[in-house]
Amino acid sequence: MGTVEEKFHTFLDILSRNLKNMPAVERISRSNRELEERAFKVLLSTILSARTKDEVTLEVSKRLFQRIKTPEDLVDIEEKELERLIYPVGFYRTKAKYLKKLGEMLIEEFQGKVPRTLEDLVKLPGVGRKTGNLVVTLAYNDYGICVDTHVHRICNRWEYIDTETPEESEMELRKKLPKRYWKIINTLLVDYGKRICSPIPKCHLCAPEIRKLCPYYEKIKGIEEVLEKYNFKKISRTNIPDKRGTYILKIKLKEVKNISYGKNRRRFKRGYYFYVGSAMGESNNLKRRIGRHLREDKKLHWHIDYLLNYGSIKGIYVSEKDVECEVARDLSFLEGVEGFGSSDCSCRSHLFYMKS
Ligand code: SF4
Repeated sequence: MGTVEEKFHTFLDILSRNLKNMPAVERISRSNRELEERAFKVLLSTILSARTKDEVTLEVSKRLFQRIKTPEDLVDIEEKELERLIYPVGFYRTKAKYLKKLGEMLIEEFQGKVPRTLEDLVKLPGVGRKTGNLVVTLAYNDYGICVDTHVHRICNRWEYIDTETPEESEMELRKKLPKRYWKIINTLLVDYGKRICSPIPKCHLCAPEIRKLCPYYEKIKGIEEVLEKYNFKKISRTNIPDKRGTYILKIKLKEVKNISYGKNRRRFKRGYYFYVGSAMGESNNLKRRIGRHLREDKKLHWHIDYLLNYGSIKGIYVSEKDVECEVARDLSFLEGVEGFGSSDCSCRSHLFYMKS
């Protein structure tokens, strides 16, 4: 079916053939032919767009551009009036302050023009690499890669890169993404990331031709097959059966953590962890064992308890079968965390990692 890179590039090609919604800033860039004016408007609307819905960015940008046409206009306008003009964009008060300072800096340091290089753009107030890259690509049509939370998440989800922050992602993409995708990747993945491949992905809405390429979907399906094979049921914390059996805890770690457990210390990446355990004793059954893991004031006994101190449980699955090692073996298509929870068997691990 091809390499990770080939699959990801095909995914981008499919998205580009089916692109439905042009983001507000891109629409603004396309409606302005004159270079200086376009750069100024793209810069302002990109700053407005942070933490703001696209429809609001478009409406507020149009209103703003009727009143503000040059950096001098930004200097002249009262901050309170600017606040009123850009309301209700997210953080409108802070943005009004930035825009005032931006006008001054453009005049004092850049002869009243929006700079063309990323290096200069990020010197401007309220402008980070994301905004700077968008100005480089949309206003000047130069090469840049605008990486926001959607681009960062989806590129990692597709295993195209392995990074912790959008900044790291940009650097990795600069090394390996073919230049034909540089200017368009943000437009493609922001739209898709908002509608479908969201933080909790709506895979059922994804086109079959994408699903069959997607490594994340393949893993979700693999996990579902294992759950079905051993007759696992998803249960709530308050409904743990008073029976023997095997259990899986799905744990989410929101950020990278260095965790010490016993004599060991390990760096845990952000994402999902699946822990397989069993409770086959007469009294030491599922209710007692899982109940122990869930207690806030538990004594740290098993390695998994150390991870549970930092992560949150997103799913509890139980089976009445005695299949702990079989399940661990069947889940080994996921990345195993070695030496974790496998003290009394020969399995490499009973803890598995998957990116979120
Ligand atoms: S199948 Fe799911 S994870 Fe993969 S691209 Fe579609 S929505 Fe995202």
